Amino acid sequence: MSAPVFCLPRADSTNAWAKAHPDRSGGVWAVYTLDQTAGRGRLGRAWAGAAGQALYYTAVLPWAPAQLPALGLLAGLLVCEALQDRYAPGPDLTLKWPNDVLLAGKKLAGILCEGVPGRDKTVCGIGINLCQPAAVFAAAGLPHAASLAMLGIGADAKRDAAPLAEALTDALAREAPMLAAQGFAPYLDRYRAACVNLGRRVAWDGGAGTALDVDESGRLLVAEDGSGTVRLFTGEVSVRGIYGAL
Ligand code: ATP
Repeated sequence: MSAPVFCLPRADSTNAWAKAHPDRSGGVWAVYTLDQTAGRGRLGRAWAGAAGQALYYTAVLPWAPAQLPALGLLAGLLVCEALQDRYAPGPDLTLKWPNDVLLAGKKLAGILCEGVPGRDKTVCGIGINLCQPAAVFAAAGLPHAASLAMLGIGADAKRDAAPLAEALTDALAREAPMLAAQGFAPYLDRYRAACVNLGRRVAWDGGAGTALDVDESGRLLVAEDGSGTVRLFTGEVSVRGIYGAL
């Protein structure tokens, strides 16, 4: 049986709604809307909304947030796979470590995984740009953002939101227990194949170097300039070097 998926006409943030209603259902469940008014990203950043033109989604997992960074990487991979299935033969999607989903080098989807305070539950929030025209991102000052429609992919938010939300929920319900049991190792080959950073220059607050690999905990291995190999944790850094020049 499929995991429950609820639709809201509007939400400030689906992560905030899920954290305020952690027992809306048991097991794995999800909530989504096409109208999110105060979306959030990592490190306190905002996620820009466009009513009726994008999917704003949160899955609730009934486990403590032991593997938050790796869950974010897994979610990015599952978003790529769900979109490739839905829009077959498939848009050319890549992943910018840790979990930005890129379409033609621009940001199509963002992910924010969080614990639920005081509860052994984790939320995994995903925003996917479906049909915004380029003007929406220009007006929001987001030159590195893209939607499927901007690249000529026939997305229809009203038609596609529910099946995408269901596919993501089923995939997370299937894969998250494996992640909890075995860590990120089973996903590494698929992740590496999609990861646009590997072999390229990256910079972050405090350093710069060449990205070498991703490890079984989801950390990015970097040959730091003038130094040895460092492992970057997802919660600490925002890696630059893919959107525009270093
Ligand atoms: P980075 O994009 O530098 O890797 P991040 O992974 O920490 O940062 P997220 O938490 O995924 O960022 O998303 C927030 C950032 O994404 C914002 O700072 C903004 O640059 C960009 N952004 C905000 N809204 C959108 C959107 N609808 N589509 C694409 N990008 C967006």
